[in-house]
Amino acid sequence: MKENFAGYSIENLINTKINCACKECHFINAELFYGNFIKNIKLVMKNFPYSKVALICTENSFESFGKSLIDFLKKEGIVPLSIIVNNLSDKVEDLSKLFCLPEDLRCVITFDIDLVNALSYFAFVKQIPLIFIPTSVNVKGVFNNKIRVTVDGKEDKIKITTKKYIIIDEKLLVAQKKDLLTAYLNALTSLVSVIDLRVNKTIFSKKLCENCLELINNSIFAIMNNLSKKRSIKLIEEGLKLDIANNFLEDELYNSSYFAVEKVQKALGEVNNLTKITTVFALLELYKIYFSKKQENILSVPNYIEDIEELSKITNQNEIDLLRRVKENLPNFFEFENKLKKHNAKLLKKINAILKRKRKFVKIFNALLEETETVDYELIKKSIYYAPYFMENYTTLSLLREKGILENL
Ligand SMILES: [Zn+2]
Repeated sequence: MKENFAGYSIENLINTKINCACKECHFINAELFYGNFIKNIKLVMKNFPYSKVALICTENSFESFGKSLIDFLKKEGIVPLSIIVNNLSDKVEDLSKLFCLPEDLRCVITFDIDLVNALSYFAFVKQIPLIFIPTSVNVKGVFNNKIRVTVDGKEDKIKITTKKYIIIDEKLLVAQKKDLLTAYLNALTSLVSVIDLRVNKTIFSKKLCENCLELINNSIFAIMNNLSKKRSIKLIEEGLKLDIANNFLEDELYNSSYFAVEKVQKALGEVNNLTKITTVFALLELYKIYFSKKQENILSVPNYIEDIEELSKITNQNEIDLLRRVKENLPNFFEFENKLKKHNAKLLKKINAILKRKRKFVKIFNALLEETETVDYELIKKSIYYAPYFMENYTTLSLLREKGILENL
């Protein structure tokens, strides 16, 4: 029986093999626990009696929660080891202090989302589980199963399959404004990425898992709705669901528009007030223009030679190199024109539904961000205009640009 799982609760989504209607079998190797974290650690530790476990966390987490955990573990006859790190990069050299831990380590525990990625990698290499006890509503990346690590200067992608235990203890959760803002931005960038991914896949006639997309949409709006109520448990659950769906889609979301934004930011290095939020809104505007009926007949091919000249001046990059990149990224214009026509109505419906809520998004953002940000919309336009040149993959931005829509902004 093939399942449509978009309405599943978080418990149904993890530790179960889902034979999805998209023909894939989705799976997240994890277990979830609710309530007092010490009590729950005791439950998990039944699997590892009288063994060595490591608590790896930041100084803050150690002071606030770590000490009581260490005391408890000692009482239980477990040998706790602790390492305090305030950040860990994806570079293997940076993880060397973890590899000094004893060989017979049986489990890793952390309270910090920023350490989860590196610790997932470490736990995978050691083939031991990771216990994560969130202390904020930002849980982005918990289930990230494809981890990029840098070994000897070379980037490698590793698929993590070891188990994760997530313990949600409401008493530990402090819904600070900073965390709420992060949760909100994660949700909003996911939203734009979903649109971008849909358009992108339509062009290449690739099917995406509709259940995953539905789950992402549901979670994004649940996050939006729960932000003002500061319901931490709900925010964490929806954040985890978003992460699960993202994972099921095999990281494709991250390679979509979000990736484009990052590339542009890097390329325009001197720009530092280009915040995620303004980029997100600028992208939403782009989609609106593209999918609105009024613009339907715009079909102009940009003057690449002129653009390249200008771009070369800005970036100090060789014109021939730039031209080559444009050429490589230019698929058959009419082919995707036809493909898009078929799907336009469906995409437009989705985007309209999202744009209807735009005012609400801005309101939430303003409420979360008290000080006024200086937003340079001209700069955003300019950077998005040049985005296709920096892309390794063909994206919606490339499409918009080729259709001459960016020039009309
Ligand atoms: Zn699926």
